[in-house]
Amino acid sequence: MHAALTTLKGVGPALVQKLARLRLENVEDLLFLLPLRYEDRTTVRRIGELLPGTRSLVCGEVLLAETVFRGRRSLLVRIADGSGQLTLRFFHFSAQQQAQFRPGVHIACFGDARLGSAGMEMVHPEYRIIRDGNNPLASDTLTPIYPITDGVPQGRMRSLASQAVAIMRRSPPAELLPDSLRNELDMPTLAEALSYLHHPPVDADLTLLATGTHPCQQRLAFEELLAHYLSLRNLRRLASQEKSPALPDDAGLHHRFLSSLPFTMTGAQSRVIEEILADLRKAQPMMRLIQGDVGSGKTVVAAMACLQAIGSGRQAAVMAPTELLAEQHLQSFQSWFEPLDIEPCWLAGSQRAAARRESLAAIADGTARLVIGTHALFQDGVDFHGLGLIVIDEQHRFGVHQRMALRDKGADGLGQPHQLVMTATPIPRTLAMAAYADLDTSIIDELPPGRQPVTTVALPESRREQVIERVREACAKGQQAYWVCPLIEESELLDFQAAELSHAQLSAALPELQVGLVHGRMKGPARDLVMRAFKAGELHLLVATTVIEVGVDVPNASLMIIENAERMGLSQLHQLRGRVGRGAAQSHCVLLYKQPLGKIAKSRLGVLRDTNDGFIVAQRDLELRGPGELLGTRQTGLPQYRIADLARDGELMPKVQKTAQTILRENPATASALVRRWIADAGRYGKV
Ligand code: ADP
Ligand code: MG
Repeated sequence: MHAALTTLKGVGPALVQKLARLRLENVEDLLFLLPLRYEDRTTVRRIGELLPGTRSLVCGEVLLAETVFRGRRSLLVRIADGSGQLTLRFFHFSAQQQAQFRPGVHIACFGDARLGSAGMEMVHPEYRIIRDGNNPLASDTLTPIYPITDGVPQGRMRSLASQAVAIMRRSPPAELLPDSLRNELDMPTLAEALSYLHHPPVDADLTLLATGTHPCQQRLAFEELLAHYLSLRNLRRLASQEKSPALPDDAGLHHRFLSSLPFTMTGAQSRVIEEILADLRKAQPMMRLIQGDVGSGKTVVAAMACLQAIGSGRQAAVMAPTELLAEQHLQSFQSWFEPLDIEPCWLAGSQRAAARRESLAAIADGTARLVIGTHALFQDGVDFHGLGLIVIDEQHRFGVHQRMALRDKGADGLGQPHQLVMTATPIPRTLAMAAYADLDTSIIDELPPGRQPVTTVALPESRREQVIERVREACAKGQQAYWVCPLIEESELLDFQAAELSHAQLSAALPELQVGLVHGRMKGPARDLVMRAFKAGELHLLVATTVIEVGVDVPNASLMIIENAERMGLSQLHQLRGRVGRGAAQSHCVLLYKQPLGKIAKSRLGVLRDTNDGFIVAQRDLELRGPGELLGTRQTGLPQYRIADLARDGELMPKVQKTAQTILRENPATASALVRRWIADAGRYGKV
């Protein structure tokens, strides 16, 4: 099965190069490249019964063929089968082609029927001449349509796939799913499933196949999810064989910290803190993910973990994805830890050389017990001194490989640092199982008391004037507001409202207010300057692009307007909305949309109006947009599946998880075989 593609008929070096574009490297790869869809060429339709808009197979006798010049040179071929006549229309054709269509010749053709000026017609159908009564286009199975690439036409792909299936039938691939599981779930074998999906029988259920829910497709999706899950669990297993410093003690810091806080921890926070502290006491690396909705108070939980490391004589590091967020943590930790005489050390890209040198020295000699910064923390030249714990905030921006690299970087003779990652994007359980199987998870499922849910309304653009008045009133009462726009420049293509334009308009409409602007193209320091002014209350209204999406905490801001809300994902909107509702005042979020609003868009905005629960929002987002959008696939390194689709197949995950446990316990060799079969860069995941 791993035979080179050149062992197939008609495959030379040139074709091999083209096939590589489809990530096809050997015969087995061909088997796993499933058809995108299927066509029914099993039945020859009568021309008189053709319906416009359907793809159909017909046979007929050529009545006439002529070249016409009506604006454009084209070849018209009229055929008939006794029930009616059909015109075939070709715009590109050769002299030989034209010569084939002699009156009296019988042809089969397959294409989209449509109603043209001269009755029913097909433009550029697939066709063949019928010789000795055989219809060369008819098939006794449904016809698979494969993904193709330049220079590899559909017919060629189909023939390659058929050859691969024939080889597989002679020597079937190893069946790696346990019989007991296949029996229990009534699953076909791998070979049966592949064979079926490449050549489904005439009576196959096309609806199931089209939605990816056919048992044969589900069988493959299951195995693929299982392979990925196993590879992540394996990473986890490898990590737990590593050594980490046990961090048993907090030197009384916890008690002093908790009694100096102006609030008490919620039940959820206390529970998660206990889970973390138990991990930290062990001499194996903690790899834990905290999920908690915006505003659920993850930072203070991280602070408790840091104190455990510091109290045990180790260093702790807190890393955020942007300088702004890192700085916000710096401020929180500075005020929280001041009574404890712990001064956080700052390290970020924009730092001046002298300050940076000073930080680096303090980190290296261990004077710095807590280090806070951006990914600058893990660049060359940073030399930790007994790093015991890494906290990564907003982790969905870091992928699994980055997580591993960080651990290795922080490792010293005494072992690897413990790792705590925090995310504010609540991820539906099944998705989290697939995406974060290398981590243990804790969920903060409770907001601090006294939070009033943000009231959300959706209004059409035409109500802009009224919304501006609302901003005026709120700010007159001493509150602050955000005005969020999706893009920074007017874009003809996308018709987004520009933040710059909005800023100018709002400044003009609200002359009595101080209006600031932040957007993604501003340099970090310039942006931070504006954010700081807003935090300090020097600005009333902040016009912003989605750069303010994550983590920013300005409790006095109680009104948020989001323009072009219909263009944004639900989770993103929920994140944005989480910027308000952080103080005592009742907060509001206004979603402005452009009319007309489609039905789906309407129901999407309705989700936000109806719930403040990030997990419900995330679940709906997953259903509506798929996991890539939700997690930001490109950044996370979330696996790119060949067949599985987490939005569709997520519910397989609990079973996948159980099966994985059984396989790992009873048959680890199968686990490695599965990983090798499904994961191209299996090596990166360590030997299973
Ligand atoms: P997030 O989980 O979104 O990162 P933060 O950690 O920024 O949330 O916390 C949001 C705000 O809630 C902060 O101002 C924080 O000090 C406050 N906070 C955290 N825990 C509690 C609590 N138990 N009671 C009251 N306020 C809290
Ligand atoms: Mg946060």
